[in-house]
Amino acid sequence: MVNKKYTNLSKGENMHCPKCNSQNTIKNGSIHNGKPKFMCNNCGRQFVENPTKKVISQETWDLVDKLLLEKIPIAGISRVTGISEPWLQRYINDKYENIDQQINVVKKRPINNPM
Ligand SMILES: [Zn+2]
Repeated sequence: MVNKKYTNLSKGENMHCPKCNSQNTIKNGSIHNGKPKFMCNNCGRQFVENPTKKVISQETWDLVDKLLLEKIPIAGISRVTGISEPWLQRYINDKYENIDQQINVVKKRPINNPM
């Protein structure tokens, strides 16, 4: 027989308030897409868990570099990596600023081959 112990269940409901950083917060319903909404008992601020703030890993940026080499359009890279297009555009701008100004989005067109 295996006895499963359930200890230390994480409640995950004591979010830090983004305004005053208090942990004195309560769950306060949910927003339209089902994400839980929280309210701070300290300052009254209402907030949602994980606002669209993402940490992008170096691995992901390496992948972006590879996709760029394949001339994948920004929209495609955005879908693959989950990085928003404005971020990608800024990254590319920074990256190529000193090299060239050719940051045109590659458009699909018929191959012009006389053979
Ligand atoms: Zn607060």
